[in-house]
Amino acid sequence: MNNGRSSDVFFFPYSRNKAFLKELRGLFSEVSHVISAGDSVAVKLHMGEYGGTAYLRPPIVRRVCDLIKEAGGRPFVTDTTTLYPGRRFTAGQYLKTAAYNGFTEESVGAPIVIADGEEGHDGEWVDVPGRSSECPIDRVKVAGGILEADCMIVLTHVKGHLLSGIGGSVKNVAMGCVTKESKAAQHRAGRGLIDIEACTGCGECLEVCLYGALSLFEGKMVRDEEECMSCNRCLFLCKEKVFTLPPGAREEFAVNLAHAAAGALSRFGSRVACINFVQDVTPLCDCVAPSGLPVVPDIGILCSSDIVAIDRASLDIIAESKPAGRFAHLGSDDILGRINDADSTAHIRAAHELGVGSLKYRLKEQG
Ligand code: SF4
Ligand code: SF4
Repeated sequence: MNNGRSSDVFFFPYSRNKAFLKELRGLFSEVSHVISAGDSVAVKLHMGEYGGTAYLRPPIVRRVCDLIKEAGGRPFVTDTTTLYPGRRFTAGQYLKTAAYNGFTEESVGAPIVIADGEEGHDGEWVDVPGRSSECPIDRVKVAGGILEADCMIVLTHVKGHLLSGIGGSVKNVAMGCVTKESKAAQHRAGRGLIDIEACTGCGECLEVCLYGALSLFEGKMVRDEEECMSCNRCLFLCKEKVFTLPPGAREEFAVNLAHAAAGALSRFGSRVACINFVQDVTPLCDCVAPSGLPVVPDIGILCSSDIVAIDRASLDIIAESKPAGRFAHLGSDDILGRINDADSTAHIRAAHELGVGSLKYRLKEQG
């Protein structure tokens, strides 16, 4: 991926009112050079939380898998388990949720692999190239199933995220290509501060902490800092607001994301391409069900071999769009960031500074 020059970002706008599954062929042809005949190709995507609806639809994934096969590749559709307890916490749970959401080998035409193993710890440590001394993440544990691929196509539903503002390709790779250890390391920035005076000792948080990090002592919650994985399930659950996000959590999280993405991508060099679908742009990410009503109308599909440029371009085309419904008063400039009280550009800029890609791009309309 290049850093200093402008990168090409190919764009198919939905306003053309053409069959977009068909038009994907033209877009994909611009990046299919990352695949060589016989390659094992990881198709990285989020297959949706149980109860969510805004994730990428299976026929889109099917179409991309078919195009990969046409290019000579052997695709497999992949993601990793979640840090937080739920219906994707183990590989077995994730496969069931994926099937419920419509993702099966039959529907997408490729095997579905939960790449970090049953418990979410299978992977190998990879150094982060160009790490900033201010970031604690000097290496990431990349999911084993993804490491085995020859190249990667990142399919991303562009939407909002509570900590990073926008959830684009950088976020998809940073959090989605690594094991629970490295998800926890990135989320460490947001581990809740505790106001113990507010704790009533109800014990509800103990039940949701699958890591056994919480206990009660003399009627108050106690957190074992060594055991806590920073999943923040307790933060969102506690009605007494005992937990709050620390100041600077979002800024630190942005830098962590960029470092994790740089580490995961280093495995593939230039053999990565990204396709961003700017549709169903909900305020929250695909891990949240429901993730909210769309904030802008569906815009189109972007495609690039530069992960930084494609996310920057996605932000820009959202900014040029007219916000929908109850978000209309916000204006569209970094609307996802403002909804989530975050700067959406922070992790994209940090990734650029690490040499992952370029903030400059040429938008080339197709179709
Ligand atoms: S932290 Fe909140 S959920 Fe946990 S015991 Fe205290 S009041 Fe209950
Ligand atoms: S203590 Fe809270 S943040 Fe830490 S692992 Fe348990 S539920 Fe997650």
